[in-house]
Amino acid sequence: MILRGLHYAPQAEPVSLRVGLLKRSLHSIMALLALSRPPRLVLFKLWQAGAGAQLLSHSVSFADLGLAEPLLRAVSDTGYTTPTPIQAQAIPLVMQGGDLLAAAQTGTGKTAGFTLPILHRLLASPAKRAAGRPRCLILTPTRELTAQVEASVKEYGRHTALRSLVIFGGVNINPQISALKKPVDILVATPGRLLDHAGQKTIDLSGVEILVLDEADRMLDMGFIHDIRRILALLPKQRQNLLFSATFSEEIRGLAHKVLNNPKEVSVTPRNTASELVNQRVVLTDQTQKRDLLSHVIRESGWHQVLVFTRTKHGANRLAEKLSKDGLSAAAIHGNKSQNARTRALDGFKTGKVTVLVATDIAARGIDIDELPHVVNFELPNIPEDYVHRIGRTGRAGSAGSALSLVDKSEIKYLSAIEKLMRRPIERTEIEGWVPKPVAAGSATEEVRSARGPRPQGRRPGHQPRGTQGQPSRSGNRPGRPSGRPASHQAARRPA
Ligand code: AMP
Repeated sequence: MILRGLHYAPQAEPVSLRVGLLKRSLHSIMALLALSRPPRLVLFKLWQAGAGAQLLSHSVSFADLGLAEPLLRAVSDTGYTTPTPIQAQAIPLVMQGGDLLAAAQTGTGKTAGFTLPILHRLLASPAKRAAGRPRCLILTPTRELTAQVEASVKEYGRHTALRSLVIFGGVNINPQISALKKPVDILVATPGRLLDHAGQKTIDLSGVEILVLDEADRMLDMGFIHDIRRILALLPKQRQNLLFSATFSEEIRGLAHKVLNNPKEVSVTPRNTASELVNQRVVLTDQTQKRDLLSHVIRESGWHQVLVFTRTKHGANRLAEKLSKDGLSAAAIHGNKSQNARTRALDGFKTGKVTVLVATDIAARGIDIDELPHVVNFELPNIPEDYVHRIGRTGRAGSAGSALSLVDKSEIKYLSAIEKLMRRPIERTEIEGWVPKPVAAGSATEEVRSARGPRPQGRRPGHQPRGTQGQPSRSGNRPGRPSGRPASHQAARRPA
């Protein structure tokens, strides 16, 4: 499978290059460390300046963070050797007991960043447990994320006697009511179902010592602000509050102002920037051709695991059906599917039975797949921040990933907004061997060709861009079939 780059204008050196430069400056860094108190702060600054995980990973270990022994054992069971930057920053602050406002993009390891110190604090101050009366409440926007966070709590708390519980909507409430009849230390919940329980008095939130708002930006996007306010009213005034968000919008700052008390702030990614580990590309095409094109790309590239985003639930279903007809193993995941169907699709995707998972933004929230290699934006989101969230599904925790966006005429404005947000252009690509359906003059394809995006910096005037010879041909060949001939030949065979 061949993706050819056009007009690529990287604005920053790759991380590896910067790390290389940094290593060459090791002597000066060591001198700086020797002079500074505490050295960890300097390391964080270097990380934030883009120095990379390598430097930090040689400097701070989980044991250095002072976590309780059963937690260190659990971390060691997972195979993680060094804290990620958000963990190295957030863990000590949360352990001290203060409030925290953290900007951390998905995939940075933020879940362990709050889970580990919370477990540590609960272990350090044992309290009498009561049925349905949690000491820590973690609110998340989606069912998938809720389940995932609770799985992390269980994993990191496996050598402790602390008990966690997950509750979300879309499933029978009765098993949750039964589970709440037993003591619980950490409750992970979506706001709506939590309020159902509060209304039925099956839960008592008066003992909450620590509140976490995870992916708070998404909770606001999804309209949970009123639910959050109602939940806050049920909590004791005196508590520790942690707010995690991928981006710090004005709304988030407003929420933080209401919820947090004199918080410390940490941020591991520059504002609204996408992971540098994700190779992002755009293919300009017609909407009508996207399904054939995607099928072609997946088959020709031999992709085994690809998460595809559509804007609508209906679109997700139709695309999954089409890909299945093309012989690919595909499933759709969205809010209209039952929780069981969602869990089945996700499990199939994680275990490799399902090659293509087609998802809407909300359903995909919280999906965490180790080393997910490919994300495709079948349609661009109309909210630029959603693009950052989507591509954050890949390139997680240090592994590389690719994000391909299929963009038609009507989406050029979204593309511009995304590039503006990220303050960098996204590479335009053409798919070798892909012959799109013929289109009339003045059609979408004609127009998207004029939207080839920003010119690369430093390109010589008059220089023919690489890949021009690979322009989609307008031959009468069937879509998705490699033409086997140079495009210049095909252009001469334009259908009448
Ligand atoms: P999160 O941002 O919390 O969703 O985590 C993203 C991924 O990073 C998850 O698959 C975690 O299991 C993984 N992860 C968390 N902490 C570490 C670590 N210290 N080293 C390597 N991977 C980690």
